[in-house]
Amino acid sequence: MPARILDGLKIRDEIFSELKSEVAKLHAQGIRPGLAAVLVGENPASQLYVKSKIAACEQLGMASWLHTPPAGVSTDYMLQLVRDLNADDNVDGILIQLPLPAQIDSKRVLESVDPAKDVDGFHPVNMGMLVSNRPGLVACTPAGCMEMLRRNKIPIEGASAVVLGRSDIVGKPMALLLLHANATVTICHSKTRYLPEVIRPAEILVAAIGKAGFVQPDWIKPGAAVIDVGTNKVTDPAEAAQLLRNFPERLEKFRAKGNVLIGDVHPDAMQIAGALSPVPGGVGPMTITMLMSNTVKAARLRRTSSAAVARS
Ligand code: NAP
Repeated sequence: MPARILDGLKIRDEIFSELKSEVAKLHAQGIRPGLAAVLVGENPASQLYVKSKIAACEQLGMASWLHTPPAGVSTDYMLQLVRDLNADDNVDGILIQLPLPAQIDSKRVLESVDPAKDVDGFHPVNMGMLVSNRPGLVACTPAGCMEMLRRNKIPIEGASAVVLGRSDIVGKPMALLLLHANATVTICHSKTRYLPEVIRPAEILVAAIGKAGFVQPDWIKPGAAVIDVGTNKVTDPAEAAQLLRNFPERLEKFRAKGNVLIGDVHPDAMQIAGALSPVPGGVGPMTITMLMSNTVKAARLRRTSSAAVARS
């Protein structure tokens, strides 16, 4: 039987509708949650991402500001811009679209963001809060994967979970979130030996390595829940033919378009897994959803009176 689809678009719509009511409640208190996006230079992919983030703010009735410094700006310029945004009380979330041009010290810039406005959850303070399981702003992609599991009622407590990939923005926070939800977690990376054997017992598998179709169907425990974070653009016809051998319609589309988006899990896993997040339409929409959710949360924590009480 094919796997149940963990539909990111459906969950995005659910969460957006919850966020809309929360934004309306904040409006009633005179607060309009707002996101400031900083896009340096003219990278077309980054422009597209930022545009969709601004559009999501508008859809939810949130304020947004777009700062577009030219590609040649210095680290000092960026630090001053972040200082200004940190000081602006209307700004609840600051998003520095990555990658930044090579001359900018990205780490310094990201670490200059006020942790209370760090809606990407990349700041060491927020990472530390996550490690110690305290409330903070959590990186959007792993937070979105948790929402997918929870809203699809995938049992996490006591489950054996494998996270494939250990990046700071996906793998590590994902493993910590699963651990705090009482899964038994194994983290794998490029030096892990006997990978298929390590993955096979997983009842929950999260794949985030950036290699198209890398996880083979026979590495997956029958019935497992598989969250595929990978988004890999495949352009090689032979590779597409191998990956989509059982998906003639998708292969047809590839032939017409010249490229196809494939996750880190081989599409044939659909016949083995119990539940599977598709690529596209799975984790992708969840990332932007959690960015919105983090911005509303940041506004609530920073600006409402209940937050002031909690902080005192
Ligand atoms: P990353 O920083 O490049 O990290 C990749 C991780 O995968 C590293 O930990 C690396 O191990 C591990 N790895 C690489 N090759 C491996 C192999 N052959 N076997 C086992 N582990 C291997 O990537 P990332 O930023 O975490 O992103 C991962 C994927 O998720 C990418 O496809 C990215 O596009 C996608 N992504 C999607 C979204 C979304 O919204 N859908 C958001 C973020 C990322 P080492 O540490 O040993 O090098």
